[in-house]
Amino acid sequence: YPIEKIRNFSIIAHVDHGKSTLADRLLELTGTIKRGHGQPQYLDKLQVERERGITVKAQTATMFHKYKLHGCNDGNIDEPSTFLLNLIDTPGHVDFSYEVSRSLAACQGALLVVDAAQGVQAQTVANFYLAFESNLTIIPVINKIDQPTADPDRVKAQLKSMFDLDPSDALLTSAKTGQGLEHVLPAVIERIPPPPGSSSSPLRMLLLDSYYDEYKGVICHVAVVDGALRKGDKISSAATGQAYEVLDIGIMHPELTPTGVLLSGQVGYVVTGMRSTKEARIGDTLYHTRTTVEPLPGFKPAKHMVFSGLYPADGSDFDALNHAIERLTCNDASVSITKETSTALGLGFRCGFLGLLHMDVFHQRLEQEHEAHVISTVPTVPYIFEYSDGSKVEVQNPAALSSDPKKRVIACWEPTVIATIIIPSEYVGPVITLCSERRGQQLEYSFIDRYQQSDLVKLDILLNGKPVDAMATIVHSLKAQRVGRELVDKLKKFIDRQMFEIIIQAAIGSKVIARETISAMRKNVLAKCYGGDVTRKRKLLEKQKEGKKRMKRVGSVDIPQEAFHQLLKVS
Ligand code: GDP
Ligand code: MG
Repeated sequence: YPIEKIRNFSIIAHVDHGKSTLADRLLELTGTIKRGHGQPQYLDKLQVERERGITVKAQTATMFHKYKLHGCNDGNIDEPSTFLLNLIDTPGHVDFSYEVSRSLAACQGALLVVDAAQGVQAQTVANFYLAFESNLTIIPVINKIDQPTADPDRVKAQLKSMFDLDPSDALLTSAKTGQGLEHVLPAVIERIPPPPGSSSSPLRMLLLDSYYDEYKGVICHVAVVDGALRKGDKISSAATGQAYEVLDIGIMHPELTPTGVLLSGQVGYVVTGMRSTKEARIGDTLYHTRTTVEPLPGFKPAKHMVFSGLYPADGSDFDALNHAIERLTCNDASVSITKETSTALGLGFRCGFLGLLHMDVFHQRLEQEHEAHVISTVPTVPYIFEYSDGSKVEVQNPAALSSDPKKRVIACWEPTVIATIIIPSEYVGPVITLCSERRGQQLEYSFIDRYQQSDLVKLDILLNGKPVDAMATIVHSLKAQRVGRELVDKLKKFIDRQMFEIIIQAAIGSKVIARETISAMRKNVLAKCYGGDVTRKRKLLEKQKEGKKRMKRVGSVDIPQEAFHQLLKVS
């Protein structure tokens, strides 16, 4: 498939903003699934996803769409050409953001879906940054515009102020009524670049995900970055060096559809006869055996924040649980597993999860998909303990804490996070209370694109003790001294000497911060005319009057307009 007609994009959003529903509509629109296929959120295949109404696993589907793109055709310029679109639906919940970042590695663009009524939410921000850091083209989609409380303009303003996204780029949709959906795929084709990569380079393929299928064995989801892969090819893993034969290869359309080949830029599946579920390492690079390639960057390893012990409910079931966990971790590589024994519960496992929801979902999947019955121990975060013998250890299990009197605890550390909490101002109070209940320390506090609390003062200018209201300014207290000084200097330069002394002061309240004096003219303007002729005297008076037109008399002081202009230049 020609690479310039491939687009790989994902749908990212906060929970419930309509990613999976939008994915359904796009699959229907392209005829990939039938309208009214029965189940909404088609790509949410897991039972736990259906029950909880959340997406846990990223899912890929390939769609074909005819579109007339300038400069891109299938031989006939007047005919639209067929584009191959790979859509990756992603979870919104923070515990599953590793799924999002993995999916983005295979994409060049993302639809950033925002609920038109709720606006930008926590995971909108987090997912935006994941996509932004991966250099993806971001297409903002304001969804659910059918709702009575929808306020697309407010959302546009948020997109602009928080992400600097051009409001005119936003698409307005309702995945429910179908409104505006016709603009989504054209935007994907027009705005998102085709994958980079080259078909003529040696094969490099990123292992995105894998799962276990009863009949086919381990199924790997892959993104072909460079080159091409065919059925029957021999491939090797960069991580293990192990070689495999490609037994089946194809696309998710949306069910597995064999194609015999995957070309550079495509996302699809391969079956290689991998036996052990541990062989499919997420983030691994696969390449043709006997070629040398630079491995792809892969993924950052998941950071486990919650640990709990898992034991078979019936002690004899250890092997069954072991098997179930192996199968499931093949599908969820973000869980860390080590064997442990408990005097009370016998043989079991210590598992690390990304968060409590992740742990919950893992338990539920063990029971539902693998019929395992488990007892889990109280979850704990990892602590670090330093003992009197000088050793320092990470403790993921309270039972592992030393009770040896020669190894006393002399210091301990707990994990903390630096979090940015974005909330409507009416919730600030309760949220600060929640944070302090958890021993949170407030490092910084600011308003996004709103008024920020500041230290402002009114700077008065006084002429002969009288404040000139037109010259008063509001400035930050740190700048007041300097600005006051400059204003006074400027005024001194531009106000002419007059018949009397002029005192110019800058003051904050009653405190004078700068002062200048313009001394009185020693001679009267008319003094030299005394006894002179009347015409000359009148001319002189006339001239003075003219000058006065451009003067402003404040109290007894005449201020030339120029002085006011000069004041504007001080900041
Ligand atoms: P996800 O968590 O982002 O995948 O969101 P879902 O696609 O599961 O949708 C969450 C809920 O919003 C479901 O009940 C959908 O039926 C509903 N929904 C999705 N799109 C729209 C829409 O455009 N309008 C309305 N009114 N509801 C929608
Ligand atoms: Mg979803």
